[in-house]
Amino acid sequence: MKAIVFTGKEKVSCERVPDPRIEQSTDVLVQVELAGICGSDLHVYFAREQGLDHGTVMGHEFVGRVLEAGKDVLQFRKGDLVMCPFTTSCGNCFYCRIGLTSRCERGQLFGWVEGDAGLHGGQAELVRVPLADTTLVHLPEDVSPLEGLLLGDILSTGYFAAKNSDMRPGIACAVVGCGPVGLMAIASAIELGARRVFAIDRIPERLQLAQKFGAEPIDFAENDAVALVREATDGRGADAVLEVVGSASASQMAYKLVRPGGVISVVGVHTEPTFAFSPEAAYNKNLTYKIGRCPARHLMGQLVPVVQKRRFDFVSIISHQMPLDDGKIGYRIFANKEDGCTKVVLKP
Ligand code: NAD
Ligand code: ZN
Ligand code: ZN
Repeated sequence: MKAIVFTGKEKVSCERVPDPRIEQSTDVLVQVELAGICGSDLHVYFAREQGLDHGTVMGHEFVGRVLEAGKDVLQFRKGDLVMCPFTTSCGNCFYCRIGLTSRCERGQLFGWVEGDAGLHGGQAELVRVPLADTTLVHLPEDVSPLEGLLLGDILSTGYFAAKNSDMRPGIACAVVGCGPVGLMAIASAIELGARRVFAIDRIPERLQLAQKFGAEPIDFAENDAVALVREATDGRGADAVLEVVGSASASQMAYKLVRPGGVISVVGVHTEPTFAFSPEAAYNKNLTYKIGRCPARHLMGQLVPVVQKRRFDFVSIISHQMPLDDGKIGYRIFANKEDGCTKVVLKP
């Protein structure tokens, strides 16, 4: 089959690789129809995150049709249209039972093979899905494949960021980073009742989408974002800050933006060894800080009605759709934010 393969820093290419096959009786093989490129893929691409074997099939966002199901799979049959969270989960361990499916004891991240162990990704014609009954989700009626693609990662993750910030009606919230995930976090904050949402980035197309979803855009390259947010909140700062970047500078900005007693909720993937602000600084603000990987499998079902309401045109953030063969170009455009790119979807 053809797949987007990682071959080193800033190097991916569409190559022929062996077809995956059913390895366990609980596996399903999915024929991929759409595959997203995520900001998380860029951590690998730019070698901020290290350890991935060369030759790994990239990607963890996909929807498609079941091509083959292992003999112990009960919920899925050949031909079913499915969406998929970006990690697998068993549905039965301590973490799955408390809704933290992203920390499943048997869970694996799609598109992460290290030292020959792990799971290949979904930017491919075919992908093997282990623990299929408790990982895959049938694409509901009234939910398009593109919407299903967003549910499997970025919409769930944006919602997770908002939920973790104790989001509730009336509060003032700042979102640091308006990439695809930040935009989903903005929509989620508004859906959950935020009174004001300040959207901070420096890329005009992304700030425009943020505004379309109902946020107040702030270009931090042109303005003092912290001063503007404080001014709008009687000098206090935001009740909740959603940090959707994953860098020390974004961390520092989030710290400056939050009011005493407020919450910083982080879904940006961090690869630095230390915090960008001190325990003393956290103490002095009575800070609550939450961070981590989104349990997408747990949240996807809850979000289906939000998608079906169509209050937000989530799919409008997808700026580029292209054949899988052009994946290398897709990575370049998304990584360098060229051509007004906000999100790339590959079509095998
Ligand atoms: P992206 O790279 O497209 O978007 C990041 C945005 O942040 C860009 O628009 C950029 O201009 C902006 N930015 C960079 N530095 C900034 C700063 N200092 N202040 C404000 N804005 C800044 O990526 P994405 O797809 O939106 O993903 C965002 C983050 O979410 C990534 O770190 C990704 O790995 C992470 N992520 C986490 C999870 C999870 O489960 N926790 C899931 C999906 C993605
Ligand atoms: Zn992702
Ligand atoms: Zn589990």
